[in-house]
Amino acid sequence: MADTVYCYCCRTHHPRELMRLFRTRHGLRWRCLRTIDAARRPSGERDEFGRQMTAQNREQSRRLADLGHLRHLYPLEAGESR
Ligand SMILES: [Zn+2]
Repeated sequence: MADTVYCYCCRTHHPRELMRLFRTRHGLRWRCLRTIDAARRPSGERDEFGRQMTAQNREQSRRLADLGHLRHLYPLEAGESR
């Protein structure tokens, strides 16, 4: 197993060409490119996703507020007939 390096992130061995030295607070550790990429990329995508969700939620609560506003105009359709 001469060309594999232990990946502290996956806790397994990967081929050396997929590994990079990565600085952690415990010092330098070997880590594979896949987990380095995964750690780097999604944070931006997650932020973007979060922004979209927030906009959707705002739109939805605005629509619900509109429905609530209409409710007193049509109380029977709003299920208040019992
Ligand atoms: Zn790995």
